[in-house]
Amino acid sequence: MMDSFTFPGLTTRVVFGAGTMARVEEEVRRLGHDKVMVLSTPHQRGDAERLAASLGGLTAGIFTGAAMHTPVEVTEEAVDAFRTSGASAVVSLGGGSTTGLGKAIAVRTGADQVVIPTTYAGSEMTDILGETAAGEKTTRRSPDIRPETVIYDVDLTLSLPVGLTVTSAMNAIAHAMEAFYAPDRNPVIVLMCRDAMVAFRDGIPRLIGDPRDRAARTHALYAAWCCSTALGYVSMALHHKLAHVFGGSFDTPHAETHAILLPYTTAFNEAAVPDLLAPITEAFGGGSAGGGLWDFAQSVGSPLSLKAIGIEEADLDRAAAIAVRNAYANPRPIDPGSIRELLQAAWEGRRPGD
Ligand code: NAD
Repeated sequence: MMDSFTFPGLTTRVVFGAGTMARVEEEVRRLGHDKVMVLSTPHQRGDAERLAASLGGLTAGIFTGAAMHTPVEVTEEAVDAFRTSGASAVVSLGGGSTTGLGKAIAVRTGADQVVIPTTYAGSEMTDILGETAAGEKTTRRSPDIRPETVIYDVDLTLSLPVGLTVTSAMNAIAHAMEAFYAPDRNPVIVLMCRDAMVAFRDGIPRLIGDPRDRAARTHALYAAWCCSTALGYVSMALHHKLAHVFGGSFDTPHAETHAILLPYTTAFNEAAVPDLLAPITEAFGGGSAGGGLWDFAQSVGSPLSLKAIGIEEADLDRAAAIAVRNAYANPRPIDPGSIRELLQAAWEGRRPGD
């Protein structure tokens, strides 16, 4: 029970289900557009081409060069293609990389966005855009960045490889974990995050055995929507800061980095706000939120150590120094020594508290 809160409302329209991709045209026209550009990564070009063909005359162009961390060179090429095509909206089909490109086009051109997420990373509900220029990643927030419509089609997630299914789910859980203690949280977001913990806990283990289990995929995609909404409407803290440090300064893979850090950042903040993180312990067991998430990560084959993704022990001092350089809100005060200890445990991969 929260004694006081502000609920800002949710502005993005959401269409959820199996086979919902058939509703792209209807949703684009609902926004008042008759020419769109379809976006994807090179890997999902086939799906993007099929979608573009199915939209017939609505398709004014297709751009399949989306890349991780939204490099500005790619965005500039895509913006040129968008302007030449005469489109007034983008349809972004893919994970966070494709959604990021759609946002980068929208913020430069005023295009509306219809996003069709195919991972659990959670960019689709947010007003956040991270972009990379000359090797530096910067992040900004603006209402112009938030997509107008999100179409979640469970069928598109059936092809998500098991490894990315697991790490992408851990990436999503990280949004919920930080939402549970966000100073600007509200009861709607907290309820969504509680539900997401249970849905991921039930869905992900089933997908290890059968990645095409449609009911389990529905659980997982529903949970991803809840977690993306949390990321999009309340503030994040230490966990997202550390993931950004490793992704930005050590070029570690996005979803794996979140997955590895999550039990450790959870345990660190649990020392300050155990009650707020109790929904995680209730969902995952293990006697503590950090321990429960580590047990879950291990049981579903998620990577457990920074060592496993190429970080050297000697890098940890620099990572800790970058992480404490600028002040930011976090439920537990941050100091270089305790962050260095957290990173040591995450580098070794030992269960938090052991
Ligand atoms: P991604 O979008 O780079 O996808 C990884 C790979 O998997 C790509 O090759 C993609 O084409 C492929 N893929 C995606 N869905 C698939 C499917 N269903 N079947 C088969 N292959 C599929 O990875 P991601 O983890 O979704 O996104 C990471 C990026 O998103 C990072 O750049 C991160 O910074 C950004 N992000 C931004 C926000 C935000 O709010 N701004 C939130 C989360 C993530």
